[in-house]
Amino acid sequence: MPSTENPQKVWNNCLAVIRDIIPQTSFKTWFEPIEPLKLKDNVLTLGVSSTFVYEYIEEHFIDLISKTLRKELGPNVKLEYSVQVVANKDSVIYPPQGYRPTKNKPIPYPIGTAKMLPKVEVIPGLKQLEIDPQLRPEYSFSNFIEGECNRLARSAGATIAEKPGGTAFNPLFIYGGSGLGKTHLAQAIGIAVKERSLEKIVLYVSANRFQTQFVDAVTVKNKLNDFLHFYQMIDVLILDDVQEFAGKEGTQNAFFHIFNHLHQLGKQLILTSDKPPVELQGLEQRLLSRFKWGLSAELQMPDVETRIAILQNKIYHNGMQLDDNVVCFIAEQITTNIRELEGALVSLLAQATLNKKAITLELAEETIEKLVCSTQHEISIGDIQKVVCGYFNLTPEGMLSKSQKREIVQARQIAMYLSRNLTKDSLASIGAQIGGKDHATVLHAFKTVRDLMDTDKHFKQYVVDIEKQLKETW
Ligand code: ADP
Ligand code: MG
Repeated sequence: MPSTENPQKVWNNCLAVIRDIIPQTSFKTWFEPIEPLKLKDNVLTLGVSSTFVYEYIEEHFIDLISKTLRKELGPNVKLEYSVQVVANKDSVIYPPQGYRPTKNKPIPYPIGTAKMLPKVEVIPGLKQLEIDPQLRPEYSFSNFIEGECNRLARSAGATIAEKPGGTAFNPLFIYGGSGLGKTHLAQAIGIAVKERSLEKIVLYVSANRFQTQFVDAVTVKNKLNDFLHFYQMIDVLILDDVQEFAGKEGTQNAFFHIFNHLHQLGKQLILTSDKPPVELQGLEQRLLSRFKWGLSAELQMPDVETRIAILQNKIYHNGMQLDDNVVCFIAEQITTNIRELEGALVSLLAQATLNKKAITLELAEETIEKLVCSTQHEISIGDIQKVVCGYFNLTPEGMLSKSQKREIVQARQIAMYLSRNLTKDSLASIGAQIGGKDHATVLHAFKTVRDLMDTDKHFKQYVVDIEKQLKETW
């Protein structure tokens, strides 16, 4: 069989089969860029552009490739990959949207054509690169009031700012509830790094934005390489709200590779999340285990003295004046969230200005009363799980277990149904957080509960009761 010596021809035959089987976008993204490099002794070597691509292909398409290849070359055929970095045709990297230094200006590609990328490579020529780090100047350390609630996280952050990548706190994993200062602190570290060494490439990105960029990159040929390379150049990468990666496997995979690459090079990673790593659902174990490599530090709700100090700092910076008793009153009333604390202050000022009234304790009482009544806590999937467990007398572990017992399955389905109705979470994220299920399972649960409510009035009463309890509690 002379054709067996021609890798291109064999591979083309395989592609002709594969093209008909998988969706066109997958074919374009994963198969078109592959280069058949060598065919010798029944071993076909495929050139891929990164270890990420190789792992993705192995995970998703290996059965398909093996089958088609065996048809071509017989049962003993073997497959090998060679990871190459092939510069795109202009020899440049296009950063993701929003990060271009100047409009459409690409970054010169540092590596020549078809060269193996050694595991640890310092890419030259990129230090002059100016990427907007996406930092907000008001989120500085000097505006971040220290208290018992944030002492560990803050001091770890300050240490990192002096020596990014050079401390044991890598990654720094900051976690805590909404409005407790995660974004502020993470940004403060970035700002402090930039102040000390302007040449360091710092980048703040929300997990959502990273995910959008990733999805955008996989749908356009050659963009994935640019995406990965762009992130691999960063000195200090701040990823905000990593819990948003729940259930998004592809994004997690890409981040895993970037994480490893940066960590190996001694670059600093800073992550924030609403939960500690052990409680994060829907994230791959290998990613979670890396999050635990460095330091996990919690941000808690500040005590009343710290809340007063935060308000006073804000008042001072805005050139305002407010009686101490008014400040104390606000700090005592708003106890769960610093964002709301600041919101109360802003409302009070607005009230005073609009009605041309002096800011008295009385006005503060009026304003805050309205505010506290109207600030509805947003119900989370966690809240829903708690109430459903309480209602059916289940433990949270029991409800999230793999058990197929009817009560447990039903409780899970109700939790999914209510999550879909009462939160903004996607089906994938709901599934990931409730027992690690996929979006189809959640959709099925939703329909099942809806149908049962139509036909079974006892069942309907359960759901109505739980929903009522939820709304009363929060
Ligand atoms: P999170 O990211 O945890 O939801 P943010 O970082 O957005 O919270 O903080 C919410 C608001 O509270 C921001 O305006 C931030 O500046 C302010 N804030 C949080 N912690 C502090 C602090 N320790 N000192 C001063 N302001 C703070
Ligand atoms: Mg935040």
